[in-house]
Amino acid sequence: MFYLLLKHNWSLVWTKKKVQDNMGLRSASHLALRAVRCSLGLAPKPKSCLSTAAGYLGEKNILLMGPPGAGKTTVGRIVACRLGLPAVDVDDDVLETTWKMPVASKLVAVGGERFLQEEGQALCNFSASGCVVSLTGSNPLHPEAMQHVKGSGVVIYLDVDSEEILHRLHILKVDRIVGQEAGLSIRDILRYRKQFYEKWLDVRVLCGRGDTAEEVAEKVLQAVERYHNHAAETYVSTRSDGERPSSETTHFSDVVVEGLASDGGLYVPKNGFPKMGAREWLRLVDMTYQEQALVLLEKCIHPLDVSALDLREIIYKAYASNFSSEDVAPVKHLIHNTYIQELFHGPTASFKDLALQLMPQLFAHCLPPMCNYLILVATSGDTGSAVLSGFGGLRGADRRRTGVLVFFPEEGVSEIQKLQMTSSNQSNAKAVSVRSDFDFCQKSIKRMFGESGLTGHLAVEYGTVLSTANSINWARLLPQVVYHSTAYLNLCRDGVICFGEPVDVCIPTGNFGNAMSAVYAREMGIPIRKVLCASNHNRVVSDFINTGDYDLRERRLTPSHSPAIDILKSSNLERFIYHVSDGDGRLVKDLFTRLDRQQHFRLPGPLLGRVQQEVQAGWCSEADCLAAIQSVHAQAGYIMDTHTAVAKVVADRLRDATCPVVICSTAHYGKFAPAVFKALQMENMPQGPLEQLETLRRTAAIPGTHRDIMTCVRGGYRQGHPVCEADYSVLVEEVENMIQDSFLKVM
Ligand SMILES: *Cc1c(COP(=O)(O)O)cnc(C)c1O
Repeated sequence: MFYLLLKHNWSLVWTKKKVQDNMGLRSASHLALRAVRCSLGLAPKPKSCLSTAAGYLGEKNILLMGPPGAGKTTVGRIVACRLGLPAVDVDDDVLETTWKMPVASKLVAVGGERFLQEEGQALCNFSASGCVVSLTGSNPLHPEAMQHVKGSGVVIYLDVDSEEILHRLHILKVDRIVGQEAGLSIRDILRYRKQFYEKWLDVRVLCGRGDTAEEVAEKVLQAVERYHNHAAETYVSTRSDGERPSSETTHFSDVVVEGLASDGGLYVPKNGFPKMGAREWLRLVDMTYQEQALVLLEKCIHPLDVSALDLREIIYKAYASNFSSEDVAPVKHLIHNTYIQELFHGPTASFKDLALQLMPQLFAHCLPPMCNYLILVATSGDTGSAVLSGFGGLRGADRRRTGVLVFFPEEGVSEIQKLQMTSSNQSNAKAVSVRSDFDFCQKSIKRMFGESGLTGHLAVEYGTVLSTANSINWARLLPQVVYHSTAYLNLCRDGVICFGEPVDVCIPTGNFGNAMSAVYAREMGIPIRKVLCASNHNRVVSDFINTGDYDLRERRLTPSHSPAIDILKSSNLERFIYHVSDGDGRLVKDLFTRLDRQQHFRLPGPLLGRVQQEVQAGWCSEADCLAAIQSVHAQAGYIMDTHTAVAKVVADRLRDATCPVVICSTAHYGKFAPAVFKALQMENMPQGPLEQLETLRRTAAIPGTHRDIMTCVRGGYRQGHPVCEADYSVLVEEVENMIQDSFLKVM
């Protein structure tokens, strides 16, 4: 196989030269020659022509990596020129000068295996500093050589679409040579090599189809600058006063571990979101969900916080067979130009899995060493099971020092939710039922955080820090930007729209995390036209969006069929107000302080206009929710969960017929089976959850039953679960027991 790989590479070296000569790039080889002299100590480094932009590189190299035909040499020369740095082409300047013969002759002389070894060896003996080095396409297959060069600078991966590479190689008539080889196609080879590029990269440069060498070079320069300017990628509190920047810089890792900013605000990226152009987005259309997530999250998380390789591992663990759909977040056609994005294929059947299968791994990655972390959660809904599943999935050392303890009210959660939380007890992820209500659980946790006697004791005795994982954590919001993007890209892939055409998105909204992620996806360049926010009768968010008044004074929470959006304080709304006020931290602080003290605030008039440009909102009554479930089932054979139904009702009211709308389906209907029975007017609902789900299955509706809910309700009958008394000291005891049982001991 190696022989084949090299053969292709060699043929390209040959043709590439001809093309460059034709393009009048001959003078560049002069520069390259000088670079080699530099590296061999034959000539002084041309310091005088270093531009200031190269200043942050110091003695580091820029190493360009990618498949044959990616443009490494051409782009390398442009980048070198722009920075006033020497360019080195490994093929021409290292291999040929070392071997004193053309690369092609060497290959013929020694054969593929040996060539690869010698090529690697030559790279191991090569040293340069302050150069732009274009690697060969096969260098990344030699681990020692790559280890060696990676230490000398930043490895930039020119990620070019395989089809485009094939096209370029075809133009260069390389396929004639490939045709002579038996078995492997170039396509196979490109696919095989990708793992090596993804292993060694520091930064990916995503090349759009049709990008010119100059455009790619520009992206390389930006990537290098980003890599070296970690300090620029910081986070600020939504309540920070822009004029007095805080003295310490806050990076992604700090934000993930801290959760809430010390001034009570929420963290947001100081410079907003990276923007991607249409050509880059189009590259993502044919990718898998994991690949899309990797490219997008690499753009949003600085590689010095989480390296591309670590991020890759985290993402491929987060979205694997734990999701029962290979597409992870598939978009299905519902009725007319209404589409539904199914966000419920994760292990606990709500959209929270999309964030919470990923977030615990990021959290564990970012934790400072030497401490155990216990996350305390009070829940009356979908969060508990999703958090338990996410943290319970940690392995190895992460698992021995990162755990979660969930308190839930014995009477306040649905039967299935209770089974989900209690059936999956893991050494580092446990749920405790409390004979009280949600408020008691919530207050007890708050009290624990506030008692320095307790937190001090846990820190000294067990090296354990208490923490939270609620929906305001940046690492919970960020993964959601991915599926809003992929929903749009799926519609492009399926030919429903062309990239650039508008689409509306409708979201059942509680804490505004999901809706905020859609706003951020638009910031990144996804052409979402309107983000439609849907409330049930607990409509504080939709009233706010329609009036500018956030008023809790007369509001009481009224239970609904869609409990996950029964809220009064919509925590992520703070990020949205920060966003529409163009980062006016003082205003945000003022409004939310007022909300705390007076239970109410009013948005200044001009800002209300901005709000309504970005989002629209409506609310749905209980009767309309159930009627929508029935009518969609009758028309399309599809069963929506109650939250999805709320969104469907609001979407139908607010949209106009001109563009497609994607309804965010945030839960599988199986989680809310009794309401579905009511909606479908099915008489004689069975008592047990298992029988309920099997009866619904027999309606032969789509989607089918949820794999993990079924497993959970089947298993659940065999176990009961302990319930603890509504006594603060008992809850504290549970915390201490859990720490003793599951964590590494200190000292
Ligand atoms: C949590 C949840 C919501 C609300 O999402 P926010 O990001 O808090 O607005 C909606 N539907 C379901 C099923 C949920 O679990």
